[in-house]
Amino acid sequence: MKFKAINKRKRIYEEVLDQLQAYLFKGAVTPGQKLPSERELARMFRVNRFSVREALTVLESNGLVQRKIGEGTFSTATSNFATTSLVDVVARNQHLIKEPMQVRRVIEPQLARLAAVNISDEQLAHMKVVLRQQSERLDNGLDIIDLDSEFHSCIARATKNTIFVGLLEALHDSLASTSIKSNQARGGGKAGYKRHQAIYAALERHDPDEAEEAMFEHMVEVERLLLDYHAERETKN
Ligand SMILES: [Zn+2]
Repeated sequence: MKFKAINKRKRIYEEVLDQLQAYLFKGAVTPGQKLPSERELARMFRVNRFSVREALTVLESNGLVQRKIGEGTFSTATSNFATTSLVDVVARNQHLIKEPMQVRRVIEPQLARLAAVNISDEQLAHMKVVLRQQSERLDNGLDIIDLDSEFHSCIARATKNTIFVGLLEALHDSLASTSIKSNQARGGGKAGYKRHQAIYAALERHDPDEAEEAMFEHMVEVERLLLDYHAERETKN
């Protein structure tokens, strides 16, 4: 096992976490395999044990390892952990919001394109209900975070590719738990709803070009709103 010395500008435990996570992602450890002890890891990373313990706590809460008192830390890697926890790690640092949004900007317009061709009447009808619920929520001054995720999931499901469905859910879970929440509360929901209407109209017409374009515009706008929000917060801090 080889680890790099720690870059002190980042929070130390985050660096430890990133390296351990990368190590687990590579599949270098099989499920159930024991990791080096806290003391050994601290020596390899040249940090104190507290930083190692903090990183292991995050890994444990993400379901990547299990710690047994008196026995040590064991890998619990399963087949679908990579997407979910990778996205979690990216979203953990709010300034890295650009990364998940970049993935969405690349993927979701293409999903909309595929959906425009494949979407069924039943799926369209369901999306219409979701849109109506979004409108009602916004009228009552409520956020539409979960309904936004559902709207985007509908499109992923309409592609009939289960990998897209899983990937999108992981991305949305992760973003929803961080910044979209605050953003939605500040009027991002209304802007999103308008974009959703345009996307829906394109899907209903089974027009791939328009669906792709409308989704692309939505992604660009969401990203801009998120970045503005973070810029605002950073100047306040
Ligand atoms: Zn949306």
